[in-house]
Amino acid sequence: MSKYLVTGGAGFLGSHLCRRLLDIPVADNEPDNEVICVDNLYTGSMENIKDLMGYSNFKFIKGDITNTYWLKHCKEFDGVTHIFNAACPASPVHYQKKHAIDTTMTCVVGTKNLLDLATKWKAKILQFSTSEVYGDPVGVPLQDEQYRGNVNCTGPRACYDEGKRCAESLCFDYNRVYGTKIKVIRIFNTYGPNMNKNDGRVVSNFICQALENKPLTIYGDGNQTRSFCYVDDLIEGILRMMDSPDTFIGPVNLGNPAEFTMIQLANLVLDLIPESTSDIVFKELPIDDPQQRRPNIGMAHIGLGWKPNISLIKGLVLTINYFRQQLTEDK
Ligand code: UDP
Repeated sequence: MSKYLVTGGAGFLGSHLCRRLLDIPVADNEPDNEVICVDNLYTGSMENIKDLMGYSNFKFIKGDITNTYWLKHCKEFDGVTHIFNAACPASPVHYQKKHAIDTTMTCVVGTKNLLDLATKWKAKILQFSTSEVYGDPVGVPLQDEQYRGNVNCTGPRACYDEGKRCAESLCFDYNRVYGTKIKVIRIFNTYGPNMNKNDGRVVSNFICQALENKPLTIYGDGNQTRSFCYVDDLIEGILRMMDSPDTFIGPVNLGNPAEFTMIQLANLVLDLIPESTSDIVFKELPIDDPQQRRPNIGMAHIGLGWKPNISLIKGLVLTINYFRQQLTEDK
């Protein structure tokens, strides 16, 4: 039997992960796996996990991973076998304003607390890192894990970028010093159902704007690129990473290498919502907004046998259906 702890479990990625973990079959004579979801609900939402609350082997605990005393003494975590650390505001609108300092603390203090927990119980810990560790890549159109990044350590994105970089460094030091079983993945832009409508991400913004017949807001000239991975593909990669041999620790890029400009994305969304009367407006580009983002996923392919399968069009259709329903329920 496995006892999974998912921090940030009520967030976009965490909630999908909890659902998949509950689906992992166990042998007839074995007790069910347990899934403990921890979230401070800064940006996560009970709405994302309401369908899981009825499962006897699922438990939600409201708490903050920066609370060292609580994490150390809470009996609920005794015997944990696997820790997925997804706890952190991940959208620029959240981490840049109200939660900037909390974001750094969550990455650094929170990750340290979880590494202590993993070390104590000899659990495997999988750290949700990010393509943001590469910052605004210069002369590296395809980012592989060896690229060391171009991050402004005093800019408004630094709380997240540098926080996540420091969290990676803590993971590797725990591995070197205590032999802690770590796994580090670098997640590129991911989208799908359960994204927060108001968190300012480009996919959710464009879809909701188009469904509500409001102008699609392109920041800058719209020639910056991102590579978008559908959430089910990402979760599959995460589970494979956790199941991989202890010697395979990463960091490993997980993302979809198909690259699009924001203008292409806006036009695609409009094509997929033909009844929309929205047009496109251009707004100021946020400070330190990366110009190009595209993962080299060779390491994930070789090490995990993983590659994404869901095209942007297919994933957008699924996400549009989700938001269409959400917006109808809101009325
Ligand atoms: N973006 C945009 N319009 C929006 C929201 C975002 O053009 O309404 C741009 C943003 O400036 C960035 C890209 O879309 O260049 C992706 O932004 P997002 O916040 O989704 O992810 P991140 O910047 O963290 O990759």
